Amino acid sequence: MALWEDIAKSAKDAAAYTVKKTEELTSIAKIKMSIRSEENNLDKCFSEIGSLYYAYQRQGEDHTSEIAALLMEADQVKEKIKCLRDSLAKLQKSVICPGCSAQVTTEYEFCPLCGAKLKDAATSGEQKNTDDEA
Ligand SMILES: [Zn+2]
Repeated sequence: MALWEDIAKSAKDAAAYTVKKTEELTSIAKIKMSIRSEENNLDKCFSEIGSLYYAYQRQGEDHTSEIAALLMEADQVKEKIKCLRDSLAKLQKSVICPGCSAQVTTEYEFCPLCGAKLKDAATSGEQKNTDDEA
């Protein structure tokens, strides 16, 4: 009977959906963890830069090259964090505000925090409806 096939199909779909959701949640958790650990790395970088600079100011020790290396490292870590935040935002169906870097869901056209115009990711989906009719 067709009804049973429908029920079986929707049960299968629901199971597939749950698996997909679980996978999404797992990767969201993983990305969040990575962001946290990269932020720790960044803090370590900054505090090392600070203490080297202090030693330079107070004891006249020259740490210029070490500080330069740490600055480079901090740049790389910052870039990593940015990439991680981007992928997290994509998984959570949101965008990163170009104005204040806040994570905003795609339902907004403008950032609720700073008012900056958000990417057109949200509006491109709406435009599809008019294309279908044309
Ligand atoms: Zn903003």
